[in-house]
Amino acid sequence: MSDRYAVFGNPIGHSKSPRIHAAFAAQTGEAVVYEAIEAPADDFAGAWRAFVAAGGRGANVTVPFKQDAFALAEVHTPRAHLAGAVNTLWLDADGRVRGDTTDGVGLVRDLQAHAAPLAGARVLLLGAGGASRGVIQPLLEAGVDTLRVANRTPAKAQALAALFAGSGRVDGCGFEALEGDFDLVINATSASLAGELPPLPETLFASEALAYDMMYGAEPTVFLRWAEARGARTLDGLGMLLEQAAESFWLWRQVRPETAALRERLRAEL
Ligand code: NDP
Repeated sequence: MSDRYAVFGNPIGHSKSPRIHAAFAAQTGEAVVYEAIEAPADDFAGAWRAFVAAGGRGANVTVPFKQDAFALAEVHTPRAHLAGAVNTLWLDADGRVRGDTTDGVGLVRDLQAHAAPLAGARVLLLGAGGASRGVIQPLLEAGVDTLRVANRTPAKAQALAALFAGSGRVDGCGFEALEGDFDLVINATSASLAGELPPLPETLFASEALAYDMMYGAEPTVFLRWAEARGARTLDGLGMLLEQAAESFWLWRQVRPETAALRERLRAEL
């Protein structure tokens, strides 16, 4: 019999996670079934408990439940603590609920797969929400030189940077104070969802810079179009989605799926 996994979100109808994990299961021969579950906005814990009672072994968690999943987990990985969020849950051999976050490592793996500048890079991270917080430590571990967080609400960028003050490499500011040349600019705001561009200065990109938008779709986002017109290489967040899924699959099954061919197939399906 197959082991049951799921992604919880609200809404969840357009999630690509069932498609991705079905492909991982087919590729690796793991006996896994994976479904999408729309949990009630006010009762994530109840939906998780019902899933476990029905034999569920683990889950991915997406908007708006990553903090609920953090609260629900009994044991957290260090990176989940740093992110303050959990996107992967599973039951361990003692029946305890374990929580981790794979978004940050997913971003770094996608960047590495595309030969992005990371070691020694000057990085600008736009946005100070949950997605930003989850990627800072993995970017630091990948050896970036400096990381500036810029946000519409400057105090949030400063508060987020303060969590990583010990590194001596992270600072925070508002968009109006932004200046400098960056090797990598990551858009982790939700502005792209609304087709909006954060107010950015004209000169932002060093030569050979990469602009990355965590959002993805059939068409480039307004941020990626803006960046391309200013000479930057561009990449969207489809690969991040795929790589965070692969890391979750590894946590559950101790088997690492291959992602390159699937990335091309998912791209063609957008
Ligand atoms: P949050 O709601 O936690 O944070 C949103 C951030 O965007 C805040 O910093 C907010 O600024 C900023 N923002 C919102 N609207 C605008 C605007 N019009 N102009 C400038 N800044 C704006 O969202 P998340 O951090 O969870 O997600 C951010 C994005 O990352 C989403 O698009 C999400 O889909 C994507 N994502 C992609 C993943 C992937 O696998 N590809 C994984 C995780 C997230 P303020 O603080 O001022 O409100």
